Amino acid sequence: MSKLDRRTFVLSAAAAGAAFGLDKPVEIFPSALAQGAGPHPMNPKAIKFHKFKVGTVEVTTVFDGAIYRDHNPSFIRNATVDDAKSALRAAKWPDDRIPNAYTITIAQVGGRTVMFDSGGGGQVPGTGSLAANMKEAGIDPSKLSAIVVTHFHPDHIFGLFTKENAQVYANTEIIVPEAEFKFWTDPNVDRLPQAAQGLAKRVQATLGGWKNIKQVAADQDALPGVRAVATPGHTAGHTSYLVSGGSGQLLVLGDLTNIPPFNLKNPGWHIMFDANPQLAEQNRRAIFDRAIADKLVCTGYHWGMPGAGTLSKDGNGYALAPVA
Ligand SMILES: [Zn+2]
Repeated sequence: MSKLDRRTFVLSAAAAGAAFGLDKPVEIFPSALAQGAGPHPMNPKAIKFHKFKVGTVEVTTVFDGAIYRDHNPSFIRNATVDDAKSALRAAKWPDDRIPNAYTITIAQVGGRTVMFDSGGGGQVPGTGSLAANMKEAGIDPSKLSAIVVTHFHPDHIFGLFTKENAQVYANTEIIVPEAEFKFWTDPNVDRLPQAAQGLAKRVQATLGGWKNIKQVAADQDALPGVRAVATPGHTAGHTSYLVSGGSGQLLVLGDLTNIPPFNLKNPGWHIMFDANPQLAEQNRRAIFDRAIADKLVCTGYHWGMPGAGTLSKDGNGYALAPVA
């Protein structure tokens, strides 16, 4: 990577940090961007997409990219860097950096092809592989029936628009959580936490004014067979989605949880990206217990490929059994 690339990269990482409401830029190793390393499930060369069935729902998880972050004492508010490293080692992942993958869930449900979130569109470091990997999976991005959004963080919505704020999916219905839309489109941007104001302005310059946006309230159907499950905490209106078909149910968690060694094994850890960490933890624990009781297959946006599996209790935390 050239010096110029590196500089651009560091600047965009700083911008991303600001967009997430962080007080410091997120440090990332540019040389390791999206290259994958080691045995953990973040290697894009190993898996670009994965297909499986839940009841009658055909599910495809699609890899949008990955980054590796330097350890940072503020990354987990209530755990140390040593705690983070030992959690990674216990999961048999490399412990030198914190890997983070971006995985989009696409479900064929009720005759529709529904995509959950849109990836980072190459505007978030490490992202940008979604469209190519969708095509490899046999899914035409222009033929999606709807895009359903969990929350408005950049890695989940920047794939909806170009750098110039033009729509990427102008002819597709985009369904967003009502509470999330309300938070980020507050006309008094000054009322929002200062670190959220940049992202709010971008939202208002893009999807805030689009005609193809539909809002869904908590516990209502976004589409037939797709129920909105309010899981606030990570953001004000963060929403998971329960997808039902036949005898099976899929729960698209979104960012209810970070990588498995952190938020599954340690559901009480408060990652810096959670806006209201106590509420995020409360919803995380409640939803994990429900997923076990109801035998739900879950997808996690930052789990790494295949990005889906079933949960079980594991000591004070939870374990993930990836789908076959
Ligand atoms: Zn995310």
